[in-house]
Order: sequence, then structure tokens, then C-alpha cells
Amino acid sequence: MFNRLGKTAAGDDPKMGRLVSYWSVTVLLYLLCLGIVWLETFTGSGQREAAAALTILSCLGHAGFYLLIRKSRRLRLTPAQLSVYQGRFAVLITCLGYPIVGPFRGACLVVLLVTLVFCAFTLEARKTHSLSIFAIVLLGAMMIAMSRLDPAFDARIEFVHFVLIGTMVAVVGILTGRMSDLRARLKKQKDELLVALARIQDLATRDALTRLPNRRFMVDLLQGGERVPHGRPACLALLDIDWFKRINDTYGHAAGDEVLQRFAEEGSKLLRPTDILARWGGEEFLLFLPQTTLAQAQGILERFRRHTEAWTLAHGEARLRVTVSAGLVELHDREDYGSGISRADALLYRAKSEGRNRVAVEEEGAAVTAA
Ligand code: GH3
Ligand code: MG
Ligand code: MG
Repeated sequence: MFNRLGKTAAGDDPKMGRLVSYWSVTVLLYLLCLGIVWLETFTGSGQREAAAALTILSCLGHAGFYLLIRKSRRLRLTPAQLSVYQGRFAVLITCLGYPIVGPFRGACLVVLLVTLVFCAFTLEARKTHSLSIFAIVLLGAMMIAMSRLDPAFDARIEFVHFVLIGTMVAVVGILTGRMSDLRARLKKQKDELLVALARIQDLATRDALTRLPNRRFMVDLLQGGERVPHGRPACLALLDIDWFKRINDTYGHAAGDEVLQRFAEEGSKLLRPTDILARWGGEEFLLFLPQTTLAQAQGILERFRRHTEAWTLAHGEARLRVTVSAGLVELHDREDYGSGISRADALLYRAKSEGRNRVAVEEEGAAVTAA
């Protein structure tokens, strides 16, 4: 019921819903306590003005907390901070109600305990302990004051009450401290799991050398789309660095690695946020260009090719240069991505055989080469 109330009041935000539902539970508790206050006022010796003042203070406090909860994000108030304020306010109201409820004042002790247990759900052990101390000091001061001012408050009974509540609050403090440690441990474990999961995802979907999406990522992505949706042009290109083996043979494997990294870096700079360049294997890359016509893709690939032949990589005295060849196709309506890759591969082979450093583009069933 309270969850539903929280949802209605807070919309779709689950955190806000939880805070509002906690708030509505405390309203119910306050109503119960104020009921006791008014029972004593009407049937016993409780003072009407004091009961009215306490009721108004409670209502104002609760309205204020409701607003604070709703504005908590804008005011940057955490649930823990809100709990501290609400807990202190509840302790204050309970202690102010203590002299008014007369013979029913034993109920105040129970209410204090409930307040502390409630706060323990959101507070760290240290804050729960400080709230417990605040409760004991305030209640103790109230008991001493009342046993001096009002003969109906027997100092012996107040002392026994004080020892009882002090012991219970201490026990609750220890238990809630344990609970809060447990909660902190669980949260730490959850955070560690999330970090590990992110790392596993990264390892599974990114190429370690170039940091580009890897083949598995690309296959999942293309398979996830299954077939190219009707009416949406998309292009696919296979790119291969020319004469790459010579770089390895002449300057070593590490220099080859550096070239691959630089190629990925420079290539990524040229692409739009929606384009995806993946390392397909070795010195071969797959470029997916969604919502792109063949003419647009040809422009992008041509820019890519020219940019690649322009940059150089310093390696000792030498300046390494590479060129790239590519096979570019437009994916047909409802075409399986595998057949698109086969066509791009055939065109790449053609670009290589026609002299490299070129983009071979398929047009209306026939492969045409653009130098
Ligand atoms: P082509 O123009 O026909 O593509 O010639 P190529 O030399 O680029 O092609 P080839 O397939 O003969 O050689 C590719 C080389 O890429 C062979 C392989 O050792 C190297 N290679 C593959 N993966 C890596 C890598 O991760 N790092 C380095 N340094 N080299 C790699
Ligand atoms: Mg090559
Ligand atoms: Mg190759």
C-alpha cells in the first residue's frame, strides 16, 4: 500500500517512491502518537494548548519533510541526510510529547526505539549512534525537568524509565551498527561486481591493442539487427592496411602494433558518432555506416584513404607511412550481413589486385574502382 502511495506521489522514480513511502509510514506513526496525546487531553489532565502546539509542529514538520524529499535532488540532499533530519525531528517531537501524554508516556519510549530502528535502515552506524545519544540526552533532560517541576512525575519511575530506554537504545545501537556494517559490505561487494562486470564486458567486446570494438562485438551488433531494415540505407566496408607485413619485417612487431594503434586512432577521428569501426582481425578492419547511402559512404571512405596516406608515425629516425585498401558495399534491403561482408571482401581483393591504396565500390551489380 505504501509502495503504491510512494509511486503515485513520486511518479516513475523508484528512489523517490521509496522515500515518499517511508515518509508516509512515519506520518501514520505520528498520527498514532498524536491520537494518544489527544486521548490524554480529552480524558485525562493533558493540556489542550500544548497538544495543539505539538500537533501543529508535527504537521508543519511533515509538510516540510515532504517538500524536502521532493526537492532533494535539486537541493543535493542524500537519503541519509534526510534520515538524520527526520530522525532528529522525530526524537524532538517525542520528547516534547513526553510531558503531555501523562500516564501514557511509556509509549514515548517505544516510539523512540521505532524511530532509531527506522533510521538504521538508511544511516551509517556512526550516525545512528549519534542519533541514539541525542535521544538519550534529550529524554533524560526532559525527565529531570519534569520530575522537578511536576509532582505527577515520580523521580524513581523516571529513573527506571531512563535506565530502561538507555539500555534498549544502546542494544538497538549495537544491532543497527552491525546491520549498517553488513549493508556497507554488501554495497562494496556489489560495486566490485559492477566494476568486474564492466571489465569483463570491455574485455569481451574491445580489441586490447587498438581499443576498437572487436569482431565479436561487430558480429553481435550486425546479427542483432539481423537484416537491414527496409528503407534504411546502410553501408559496410572492409579495410586492409597495405603491405603491412613489410612494416613488421623491417621495423619489428612492436612498430607494427604502434601503426595499428595509430590507424585506429586516426580512423576514429574521421568518423561520425553513428559509424562503427571495428578490428576484424590482424590488419583488417570492418566499418559499418548506418543510414548512409553508397555515395555518402564513398565520400567517407575516400577521405579515410587520403587521411591514412597523409599521416606519418615517427619510429627512431624513420617516419612510417601506410596506405589502406577497402571494399565498400551498400547492404541490400533485408540482406544478411554475412553476404554483405563477402561482397565487400571480394571488392577488397579487387582493390588490392588493382594496385592497392584505393576503395573498390560496388555499383548496380558490378564492382567499380575509385582510385
Ligand atoms: P596486403 O597489402 O596484401 O594486405 O599485404 P600485407 O602485408 O598487409 O598482408 P599480409 O596478410 O601478408 O600480412 C599481414 C600481416 O599482419 C601478417 C601478420 O603478422 C601481421 N599482423 C597481424 N596481426 C598483427 C598484430 O596484432 N600486430 C602486428 N604487429 N602485426 C600483425
Ligand atoms: Mg594487408
Ligand atoms: Mg590482411
